Amino acid sequence: MKRPVWTQKDVCRGPLILVNASHPIPAKRPPRLAPALPDQGNVLLESHAAKSLAACVKASGAQGRIRAVSGWRSRAEQRQIWNDSLRENGEAFTRSYVALPGCSEHETGLAIDLAAEAPEIDFIRPDFPRDGVFAVFRRLAPSFGWIERYTAEKEGITGIAAEPWHFRYVGTPHASILTSQGLCLEEYLASFKQGAIRFPSSEGIFHIFRIACRPDGVTLPLVLPYEVSGDNDGGFLVTVREGSA
Ligand SMILES: [Zn+2]
Repeated sequence: MKRPVWTQKDVCRGPLILVNASHPIPAKRPPRLAPALPDQGNVLLESHAAKSLAACVKASGAQGRIRAVSGWRSRAEQRQIWNDSLRENGEAFTRSYVALPGCSEHETGLAIDLAAEAPEIDFIRPDFPRDGVFAVFRRLAPSFGWIERYTAEKEGITGIAAEPWHFRYVGTPHASILTSQGLCLEEYLASFKQGAIRFPSSEGIFHIFRIACRPDGVTLPLVLPYEVSGDNDGGFLVTVREGSA
């Protein structure tokens, strides 16, 4: 059987890609999109992210209580939001809460802004509480592959002010590892430049490592089941399931 080859164009694809002011993504065709939540077809997410978000909302008992405010955005929409916010809120606010076009996770379809269902919702800074069903959602989110992406504690690293409403899909088991170790995505991805991680969990034992992309691409001589995601930083994260814990 011919082994798949991961090439330069794959470096900016996959659930673990880093997107921030110093790691823009190229303008590209949208991923395969689906309604962010089954009854909210006006907001879209990458299809795997959408499926896991719906499952997490359901497991939290929060159906009908959570509004998907903003999911996938085209480059043009991100530019529009940036320009509108500059005009209405000024530069300091906009730089704190709105990512530059090309540097927004929303352009990947892997990020969602959530709000408590209410008659009036703030589009830029929606209210997503920390109590009740929202607390349950927050607790369960990592096991469904979702992280709270911008916390006050990590503002100096992410460059974005605390956004308790913005969640990012990174997939499993990564969301659980990040959360249990108190890392933001920048720190988590950087940690693989020091070495591999072994993560025993109820889902199995995971072995995760990074490989740099070579000019002719990369193939993996692996026999165990594995997944590959670009890191949008010159390499790939490889997640191998070694067996049962
Ligand atoms: Zn957001």
